[in-house]
Amino acid sequence: MAPIPFDNSYARLPDRFFARQPATPVAAPRLIRLNTALAAQLGIDPAALTPDVLAGNSVPEGAEPLAQAYAGHQFGHFTPRLGDGRALLLGEVVDRDGQRRDIAFKGSGPTPFSRHADGRAALGPVLREYIVSEAMAAFGVPTTRALAAVTTGEEVFRETPLPGAVLTRVAASHIRVGTFQYFAARGDEEAVRILLDHAIARHDPAAAQTERPALAFYQGVVARQAALIARWLGLGFIHGVMNTDNMTVSGETIDYGPCAFMEAYDPGAVFSSIDHAGRYAYANQPRIAQWNLARLAETLLPLLADGEEAQIEAAQTALAGFAPIFQAAWLDVFRTKLGLAGAEEADLDLIQDLLSRMAANQADFTLTFRALATQPGEARTLFADPAAFDRWAEGWAARRARAGLPDAAMPAANPAFIPRNHLVEEAIAAAVARDDFAPFETLVEVLARPFEDQPAHARLALPARPEERVLATFC
Ligand code: AMP
Ligand code: MG
Ligand code: MG
Repeated sequence: MAPIPFDNSYARLPDRFFARQPATPVAAPRLIRLNTALAAQLGIDPAALTPDVLAGNSVPEGAEPLAQAYAGHQFGHFTPRLGDGRALLLGEVVDRDGQRRDIAFKGSGPTPFSRHADGRAALGPVLREYIVSEAMAAFGVPTTRALAAVTTGEEVFRETPLPGAVLTRVAASHIRVGTFQYFAARGDEEAVRILLDHAIARHDPAAAQTERPALAFYQGVVARQAALIARWLGLGFIHGVMNTDNMTVSGETIDYGPCAFMEAYDPGAVFSSIDHAGRYAYANQPRIAQWNLARLAETLLPLLADGEEAQIEAAQTALAGFAPIFQAAWLDVFRTKLGLAGAEEADLDLIQDLLSRMAANQADFTLTFRALATQPGEARTLFADPAAFDRWAEGWAARRARAGLPDAAMPAANPAFIPRNHLVEEAIAAAVARDDFAPFETLVEVLARPFEDQPAHARLALPARPEERVLATFC
């Protein structure tokens, strides 16, 4: 068995960036699933990923487990010290494409950042993160990945006792907006600079060659986040907890908690049980991303330009770039979904008109776009008033006749399968109540090919029946 080829750049940063902390061993590690394709891409021999290693009971050669320090705005309120309370960065590898990737645990025991919590993860959230993050990867959305999940043979207490689990997560990095905030809030400008250099080396090496690396880096983060949120909206995805500690500078989706995919289209959709005010509702996500990016700019101000006024102007200008980049990315996502080639002035209205009619008619977001891509004649049946669809479809047909993508291209932009909330809950319930991981396995495998019709799994493409509907998600 080849050792994991660790090369741990974060562990070489100054001590105040993290706390070295081993995982706390568990009673009886048992493998749920190992993502062998991802292991291969990381250059890791799957034989090195034993249940003991994946549960933290045995530390693989070259690992330097540590809990990262970070701060964050949670629902708009700043907490200067959060950090990895139940996560550990094991180390980094350089993957087959030359990209450096973090390998981290979630649920591996307490750290100096745990406060009074147990540092553990329950099986349900681990399965949810596995299912949804891997589905996002299959959709082509930048995301952290799931390398493996194990059960621990121990119980964790979340109102009731639940089986414990550990997820092994892979990320381009775990550097968050909140990581910058942690040092900026302490007035540690030296650490901000060191973190910036580290982040640039990992995510924006070209920025190092520019006159203002901090500004070029910041513009890169703005562009990546704008593109990311457009992709989320194109799938009906609602992250649920877009706190600044849950937003990466890499542009990958991270920290799948009470996330959800909408069924009937509703711009105000909120599922998270802790999001009482709807701060993180579906259609608010671009605005929130921009708010979070303003917080990032604040941490970089001294590095953006010379002189206070110039700094603020540079930050404002860069942040103002978010809206046009997002708008262009959003139009691009929905034009592609609708099979529109080129760009026409009226495309925005055409798209919004469809979405308004979907909202008014409780049309399932995923099924509507899939029908447009595969059997356009069927789409009308998804609308409470099919004539409302017909009136829109005339304009769509005319627009496609002027400049359309080939019919065959459309299914690849409109998944047949998404991780529907009731299916995720069903997979979790079977695992928790009956130790039955078959529904989880099936869902993961179907969602690995979300753009293919899989007639044997037609049920998994359907929305929840009223009695199956999930109205709230919990982390
Ligand atoms: P999250 O809501 O998962 O983004 O976590 C917010 C903060 O709470 C982070 O600092 C986490 O590390 C911490 N946290 C969440 N759950 C636990 C837990 N069970 N034990 C320790 N820390 C936790
Ligand atoms: Mg330290
Ligand atoms: Mg988090």
